[in-house]
Amino acid sequence: MEHKPTAASLDKIISLCKRKGFVFQTAEIYGGLNGVYDFGHLGYLLRENIKKAWKNSIENDLGEIYTLEGSLLGVHKMWQASGHIDNFNDPMVDCKNCKKRFRADDGSVDLNKSCPDCGIKNWTEVRSFNLMFKTEVGAVSDGTNHAYLRPETAQTIFINFKNMMTTNRAKLPFGVAQIGKSFRNEITPKQFLFRLREFEQMELEWFCKEETSMDMFQFWLEHRRKFYQSIGLNMDKIRFHAHSKEELAHYSVCCTDIEYEFPFGFKELEGIAHRGTFDLSQHTQFSGKDLQVFEEATKSSWTPVVVETSVGVDRLFLTVLFDAYYEDEMDGETRVVLKLHPSIAPIKFAVFPLVKKLEEPAYALFKTLKKINPNIQFDVTGSIGKRYRRQDEIGTPACITYDFESEQDHAVTIRDRDTGKQERIAIDKIIPYLQSKNIL
Ligand code: ATP
Repeated sequence: MEHKPTAASLDKIISLCKRKGFVFQTAEIYGGLNGVYDFGHLGYLLRENIKKAWKNSIENDLGEIYTLEGSLLGVHKMWQASGHIDNFNDPMVDCKNCKKRFRADDGSVDLNKSCPDCGIKNWTEVRSFNLMFKTEVGAVSDGTNHAYLRPETAQTIFINFKNMMTTNRAKLPFGVAQIGKSFRNEITPKQFLFRLREFEQMELEWFCKEETSMDMFQFWLEHRRKFYQSIGLNMDKIRFHAHSKEELAHYSVCCTDIEYEFPFGFKELEGIAHRGTFDLSQHTQFSGKDLQVFEEATKSSWTPVVVETSVGVDRLFLTVLFDAYYEDEMDGETRVVLKLHPSIAPIKFAVFPLVKKLEEPAYALFKTLKKINPNIQFDVTGSIGKRYRRQDEIGTPACITYDFESEQDHAVTIRDRDTGKQERIAIDKIIPYLQSKNIL
């Protein structure tokens, strides 16, 4: 796919998402809730396609992948073991004058200067703020029944390591994948879907032997690069950022972020980390339950090493929109087009009658094709040009027009979203044609 400089800005993406029903501010009619969004029909379909692409992409020749759907609520001790109770904090500072709250370490404020909101310099001390949402389980509120909404999906994988290994009769190396919601009480949610309080993660925990772990880490770096290529991202906008010693979490052996160049700079899209034996050792220590593997050949027990890959569905959703958004000219008109890779496009194709008079046979064709893929649309309203524009804006790769000749030649015109080129295709060849273009 050809990549020209994109015209996307955050405002344009937000406006498109709202206009076309990809994303709505949650509880908008009640004033909204910061950092939390609802996804409309097209947003839901795009998310589903992203998740499907991710799930397919982690299949590999080295070992099996098993899937887990862990609970969202987790007990206190588990988050103590993982280090989240003590360390999952961000530094925050408040403006005493306007009461606005900021994260003190992400460049949003300079404490030597005045508040960017009210222009007065009157800061509180910098305090530590734990990002987990805490709640109580059951009717008694005596402080002994605390639970937390998970801030990452990974820990439910670690605590189920033994369950997953034994019930699946898994052999190392193997992976446990999870797609699910996570919650972080971010001090300043911002940049639309980039930093949310409720979001979804796609995480893979890869369990392997210590001796092979560095090779495995390298393997996953390359494997993940290929994924971004496969969903059509402009690879010039992707870079790998290897953490320096100072940046590394204390338990991490090495870690590389895959970053994307957003209009607000290069930012983390995915993290790939060699976590050593930290997680399984911690849960063994705190639970008192053995999470080691026993090797028959050497009659020895040892703790597997974990290589993790972790990416947010919402952050990738925002990335693919930025990457696909173009404003160009076609047929003498300016249009907005989402040049989404066909595999993730929410609507695969649309069917139009050239004029209202042809609605009946065109609709019959639509109903037949809908049995092959339900994610297609029928549109009879407005000029053909208008109908093309509507589909371009939501990233539909192809539009099929049923015209006056169709009755005689049993063929339709199929128009390509990116080039505007039209081809005459026999009705009984529509499916193989779309398959040849990777649309179906
Ligand atoms: P950041 O430095 O951006 O806060 P992080 O290093 O805390 O991210 P991880 O804990 O490694 O992020 O989470 C893995 C992935 O989950 C991130 O790469 C990102 O894609 C996604 N993610 C993390 N926090 C959020 C959030 N608040 N909103 C949306 N996605 C998120």
